[in-house]
Amino acid sequence: MTPGAALARRDDPALVVGGIPLERLAARAGGTPFFAYDRALLDERVDYLRARLPDALQLSYAVKANPMPAVVQHLSGRVDGFDVASGGEMRVALDTPMPPARVSFAGPGKTEAELAQAVAAGVTVELESATEARRVLAAGERLGVRPRVAVRVNPDFRVKGSGMRMGGGPQQFGVDAERVPELLRELAGADLELLGFHVFAGSQNLDADVLCAAQQRTVELVLRLAEHAPGPVRYVNLGGGFGIPYHKRDRPLALEPIGDNLDRLLTDVLRPRLPEARVTLELGRYIVGECGVYVTRVVDKKVSRGTTFLVVDGGLHHQLAASGNFGQVIRRNYPVALVPRDPGGGVERVNVVGCLCTPLDLLASDVELPAAAVGDLVVIYQAGAYGLTASPTAFLGHPPPVELLV
Ligand SMILES: *Cc1c(COP(=O)(O)O)cnc(C)c1O
Repeated sequence: MTPGAALARRDDPALVVGGIPLERLAARAGGTPFFAYDRALLDERVDYLRARLPDALQLSYAVKANPMPAVVQHLSGRVDGFDVASGGEMRVALDTPMPPARVSFAGPGKTEAELAQAVAAGVTVELESATEARRVLAAGERLGVRPRVAVRVNPDFRVKGSGMRMGGGPQQFGVDAERVPELLRELAGADLELLGFHVFAGSQNLDADVLCAAQQRTVELVLRLAEHAPGPVRYVNLGGGFGIPYHKRDRPLALEPIGDNLDRLLTDVLRPRLPEARVTLELGRYIVGECGVYVTRVVDKKVSRGTTFLVVDGGLHHQLAASGNFGQVIRRNYPVALVPRDPGGGVERVNVVGCLCTPLDLLASDVELPAAAVGDLVVIYQAGAYGLTASPTAFLGHPPPVELLV
């Protein structure tokens, strides 16, 4: 699969997920709205990544992108690790065959209970602060287990063009790079396994040159910090940030230059300088985002002063990101398709709106779609990541949608 191939399938008149036509899938789901994730596309995506990234590079899946247990279970046999960001995600990850030692736990504000769960399970805790380090040590003492930890570093550089910046400048994430040596001194001799470092600078970046430069700077930073480590570095998590095209003008990320850059960094720098390090990339939306759709049905069609509205039975309470309210600065349409039961009706320009009584519930603005009738299916693409669990499902009290892995 080339990047965007999943997206291109929206032009496929058959509109199938996992080989099953959407109308049939809607019947199988018990109705609309629903999310459907395509396991063959997930596999193709992982294969596509593996073919372009160095063999020695480990691939970790960031569970928060899509924590559906069946998806996480499916990916457990295909990626090398899971990154979790809550006790709940950790339980989902630990229910799969993934070894706990390959699960890493990042995120600010981990509670004492969550840290104790992680230590007891043998999960790698990515320390976000000195306070967290002390809590992990205390949990280890209480449980009689040597905690496995890495230091999450807030880098001393920023990455341009990320949809969400999570490193550089003041951050609630990680320990500021310049304060890491002090923390390492504090931890030297403590009863824990200090495995290495984790640097995650940001998310949803489509510029390969920028990502390559960030990886270069991340490696330089890790090498500087490694000099202060009490022992050999065995784990380097370079973050990720690989974006996917959501909007018409977005170009898919070019993976080849990134693969070449990582190959060079591994062979020329990391292998010679940190020979024991397991080097990891952690990706969420790049793995799952293009493999899922959100399917709704037209409940009403109205013309208001010259503008046509298709009102569907779903909305931002399930798919907030498509409404433009999930951290976006400017609202732009997600790719959308309509499956007309009567395909002979030509096309029309419409607004697709959800069923919530708020003007925020706009799923597609001024789009050209086949002429619709009540009962037709409307599909939102790029819905495999940050869909259901990133949406305010309780808002307005409609029932939750079904999720299918097909
Ligand atoms: C959210 C997150 C990710 C995943 O980001 P994507 O944009 O989905 O790839 C990876 N690592 C950490 C630490 C995160 O918080």
